[in-house]
Amino acid sequence: MNRDAFAAGERLVSPAYVRQGCEARRSHEHLVRQLLEKGKCPEDGWDESTLELFLHELAVMDSNNFLGNCGVGEREGRVASALVARRHYRLIHGIGRSGDISAVQPKAAGSSLLNKITNSLVLDILKLAGVPTVANCFVVPMATGMSLTLCFLTLRHKRPKAKYIIWPRIDQKSCFKSMITAGFEPVVIENVLEGDELRTDLQAVEARIRELGPDSVLCVHSTTSCFAPRVPDKLEELAVICANYGIPHVVNNAYGVQSSKCMHLIQQGARVGRIDAFVQSLDKNFMVPVGGAIIAGFNDAFIQEISKMYPGRASASPSLDVLITLLTLGSNGYKKLLKERKEMFLYLSSQLKKLAEACSERLLHTPHNPISLAMTLKMLDARHDKAVTQLGSMLFTRQVSGARVVSLGFVQTVSGHIFRGFMSHSNDYPCAYLNAAAAIGMKTQDVDLFIKRLDKCLKTVRKEQSKESDVPAVDNDGKTGNVDIEETTLKLDNVLLDTSS
Ligand SMILES: *Cc1c(COP(=O)(O)O)cnc(C)c1O
Repeated sequence: MNRDAFAAGERLVSPAYVRQGCEARRSHEHLVRQLLEKGKCPEDGWDESTLELFLHELAVMDSNNFLGNCGVGEREGRVASALVARRHYRLIHGIGRSGDISAVQPKAAGSSLLNKITNSLVLDILKLAGVPTVANCFVVPMATGMSLTLCFLTLRHKRPKAKYIIWPRIDQKSCFKSMITAGFEPVVIENVLEGDELRTDLQAVEARIRELGPDSVLCVHSTTSCFAPRVPDKLEELAVICANYGIPHVVNNAYGVQSSKCMHLIQQGARVGRIDAFVQSLDKNFMVPVGGAIIAGFNDAFIQEISKMYPGRASASPSLDVLITLLTLGSNGYKKLLKERKEMFLYLSSQLKKLAEACSERLLHTPHNPISLAMTLKMLDARHDKAVTQLGSMLFTRQVSGARVVSLGFVQTVSGHIFRGFMSHSNDYPCAYLNAAAAIGMKTQDVDLFIKRLDKCLKTVRKEQSKESDVPAVDNDGKTGNVDIEETTLKLDNVLLDTSS
């Protein structure tokens, strides 16, 4: 309501009361104005009523919500279901214009404003999370893998002779496919084992660049957040190599925003060398549904170039989700989540260490990985390779999600490339292990339940195995082997289901 409306209201309700109501409204509006003026995440989170007021104000600025609108185009923001309209706060036009995802859409001033303000807020959060000199960023309605592809496709125009992407190995299919889909040939750089950690082989990276010739290399594609025992790439050194050879550098920072260490690596890399873009998942870092990513960088013009590569308009949903989330949390709320995550990492680490030691295993020493942990499964591994996989399925059955059991020697072909020891980021990691991660939003209760269930599963598997090893199974080839493993799996699963509390 505006001033005239309030004045009219004063004829119906006591002016003193109306004035007070008007003041109350003004305090909501004050927050909105500050947001638009500063373009920064408010320190304190907003109330739902302020948020809804803001979103409705944005929506009525879009042409599909004009009272007198008559649309005669092929895209007029018509929506058949009222439920769908409400699910999107009646923001139906999406973001971007045919040639640029960051461009303003004339039919949709509200959605355009939403897009700009979201990107501005997200930039503010990236700075706060540890990359203070980031110059520009934008939200794309695609997950991390496709967003990396978009970066590679943008670089293609700048480096017409390039065919290869130098890629320190990380066993996550979407990373590999992001390069294949963009039409490039990944040059896999195997990691080196330092203690328990798998780390970047800088010499191999440089040797391959020389061998192929810098011009034929599109970029170096490095990774921060990853499953232990791999640790974040040596970004500073890679960034220096890239600067020396004039090769672009794209960083996969999938879930690295939640870790000050990953963010610091990016900041340092950009300071001492070259980082052209870094890409992070919205869902993994901001607790929103899957479907969006942030592409960010230190050169405003290059980030704009990437946003201009996006053909057509795009969904506004990931932007809307992260906007609502950041306004709800405020920067203080987000900082609190980051702090809690760090504490949870220490807690998970200590609990997993205790459990590992109690069953003659070991928590792998991976101090450079700030999010993911790994515990050896040597005892299982020595007796039965399949038992390791079986543990994975048992945990799954017991509703432990996200724990990842890695056995040795798994060969996997991804887009024609054969990976030995797939999942372990290495051709021959010394032992099988189990991963668990302390990601944003994790609670003490998650850790406690996980440890309890893992303990139970490990004990059950061991008991079964010691029974078996009394009478070694012999298969047709005369080798001791895993002939009864399927049966055992079923038996174990039944036991577990029966005893679940
Ligand atoms: C999650 C993840 C990806 C893939 O992300 P999508 O959002 O599913 O495309 C790539 N790399 C790493 C390291 C990841 O953790």
